[in-house]
Amino acid sequence: MIPKRTLPPAVNYCGLSGGKDSARVMLWLIHESGLPRESMRFTFCDTGNEHQFTYDHVVLLSRYVVEHGCAPVVTLHPERDFYELAKWKKRFPSRKARFCTQFLKVIPSREDVQKLIWAGHEVIVHSGVRSGESPDRAKLVEREFSDMFGCEVNRPILRETLADVIAAHAKYGLPLNPLYGYGCTRVGCFPCINSKKSEIKLISIHFPERIDMLEAQEGKFGGETNDISTFFARKTVPLRFRSKTVQTRKGPMKVATIRDVVRWSHTGKRAREKQPYLLADFDDDATLVCPSGSGMCE
Ligand code: SF4
Repeated sequence: MIPKRTLPPAVNYCGLSGGKDSARVMLWLIHESGLPRESMRFTFCDTGNEHQFTYDHVVLLSRYVVEHGCAPVVTLHPERDFYELAKWKKRFPSRKARFCTQFLKVIPSREDVQKLIWAGHEVIVHSGVRSGESPDRAKLVEREFSDMFGCEVNRPILRETLADVIAAHAKYGLPLNPLYGYGCTRVGCFPCINSKKSEIKLISIHFPERIDMLEAQEGKFGGETNDISTFFARKTVPLRFRSKTVQTRKGPMKVATIRDVVRWSHTGKRAREKQPYLLADFDDDATLVCPSGSGMCE
């Protein structure tokens, strides 16, 4: 008689960013989904560009899931961290060349999920995207097959509001990442290439050491590699704020160093009104979200 084959257990997978929405999904899985807690796998992609508060918050999240009968949060490391990746690519990522999410979050998570699938587990990825975050996210459905992960993706908080997310944290006794208390509206790389004008200002006031660090990182570019690579794309700020001149094949070009961007961040709205054409693709106070729909960057 052929022995009956036992299938490996299903895995309920949830990537945590250190932000509120993925933590809300964690709370939903633990307290509301009814799924077995031993089936849950929580991961965190370390970009190497997070604030220490976020690393500390992930430790707290890990303690929380363990106290509720789950395995600790697993940290995934990309092949290269944010700054190694920028050196390797010879440029910083930008809104138009947004390779950071792919290399730092999507690839490590996808590889982790695929290892589970190859080992025979049925995997469901639970994602923290919300429809109110952007018109693209509003078009998403609650559950579908994801080509990116090669398995089903479930979006349990798709219809929730920001207030629902905050209320769930309070209800289940989970503090928010302290960065929100400083006025940050999103948590992830600190700063993120998509940081709003107000967030750059906030970072320069409360966390000036991050600006010093970025200045040092920008200083590693230049010479024969790529003279024009600064953390934020040059069109982030009006021309008059750009202090660095670089030579390109088309002639000299003005780019914005991190110090220029900080200077601009301390100006009012009129700073952009004077030269609106330079900011056509940068709405400085809109909330920018990850276009991949993966919800990996808050
Ligand atoms: S948080 Fe921002 S900088 Fe970091 S990987 Fe995501 S999009 Fe890129």
